[in-house]
Amino acid sequence: MVNVSEKIESIYRDVISRNPGENEFHQAVQEVLESLSQVLVKYPEYADQKIIERICEPERQIIFRVPWTDDKGEIHINRGFRVEFNSALGPYKGGLRFHPSVYLGIIKFLGFEQIFKNALTGLPIGGGKGGSDFDPKGRSDAEIMRFCQSFMTELYRHIGEYTDVPAGDIGVGGREIGYLFGQYKRITNRYESGMLTGKGLAYGGSQVRTEATGYGTVFFVDEMLKAHKDSFEGKNVLVSGSGNVAIYAIEKVHELGGKVIACSDSNGVIVDEKGINLQLVQQLKEIERRRIKDYTQYEKSARFIEKGNIWDVPCHIALPSATQNEISGKDAATLVKNGCIAVGEGANMPTTPKGIKVFQDAKILYGPGKAANAGGVATSALEMQQNASRDSWTFEYTEERLRQIMINIHRDCYETAEEFGEPGNYVMGANVAGFKRVANAMLSMGLI
Ligand code: GLU
Repeated sequence: MVNVSEKIESIYRDVISRNPGENEFHQAVQEVLESLSQVLVKYPEYADQKIIERICEPERQIIFRVPWTDDKGEIHINRGFRVEFNSALGPYKGGLRFHPSVYLGIIKFLGFEQIFKNALTGLPIGGGKGGSDFDPKGRSDAEIMRFCQSFMTELYRHIGEYTDVPAGDIGVGGREIGYLFGQYKRITNRYESGMLTGKGLAYGGSQVRTEATGYGTVFFVDEMLKAHKDSFEGKNVLVSGSGNVAIYAIEKVHELGGKVIACSDSNGVIVDEKGINLQLVQQLKEIERRRIKDYTQYEKSARFIEKGNIWDVPCHIALPSATQNEISGKDAATLVKNGCIAVGEGANMPTTPKGIKVFQDAKILYGPGKAANAGGVATSALEMQQNASRDSWTFEYTEERLRQIMINIHRDCYETAEEFGEPGNYVMGANVAGFKRVANAMLSMGLI
């Protein structure tokens, strides 16, 4: 019999050689595979049926040209992606990211994580992701609209409410979803509400979807704290980023009695010891689309650290909510040294493998993204549910559904980690609980 860890090692080597240069994808796969040895010992049928090998290969990968013209009439060519990773549990589901760093390796890491995240929600959604290397920064509304229309002119043929349901991610929010939905409706002549989520409330969107990722992350961390008889009360919190995830994480931390003392964008860090003024951040970022630096023009107590590192600010709790690999091993060591007791990932894969090791060795509470930030996609699935029944729920009811889902995800991760002999290891708990759900569905369906 081949030793289980050798088997996993060889699967990982194959993933690297079949997907050269896709470093973020390799990193995401490695993190999941490292959690699976006990599972293969307990369920040899997963190995016999090559479930891991199948999960690591996307069901379908679409790459396409996106031509568009800017306001001066100049033509630009971007590259569009949609990776339909796994549909064992439901239609492919996952956001679109518009950012200049996007290439196939980023979309595949996000799509791969999405499979397990979506499984953890307990709702019927498969995993996928898409996007483009388009840079929305500094573009006018009209340029954004033309880009979205061109993007959808190719994407529409691959998606649909029973096939693949995109949503937002970095660079794609309510405005972009509106343009994408409009173009889909126009091309297909179908008012198919459930083919996109994150829609506006005026045309089939769900209450709480905008807030869901940030709120959900805070609910998850609250559950980790409760399991240790602790709470947000009186804690100083860092929230990196100042986009959609960060803004609503800040709001919920404040509601639960914590104080967010810093947030950031790609230019630097705002530190405001009396507590971040959320309304001001919202006005600057959501409404005026300005840089976080301008915060100090209105709040004299705050300071801006140009190109600063938010993780150098002492805190009790850290919520990385900006982007992948934003916490290095060194940053993690600084956080631990400064007394950080809990980390909840609002972003996808924000902690490097070295950083994760530091948190785990220090035995602080560490909630990985695929569990902690699953509230966003979970609420997308609630949006699909409302669309399918042509219904719309109240804010209070939807938020309570989200809170319950986050409580369940926490419990699943916690109990799975105990069952597999690593109590407190939320990374292994999340990976194994998500993996088992997908694997069992795949086993039932035969070799597909
Ligand atoms: N982009 C989000 C995520 O990383 C949400 C995806 C969705 O709502 O489909 O999970």
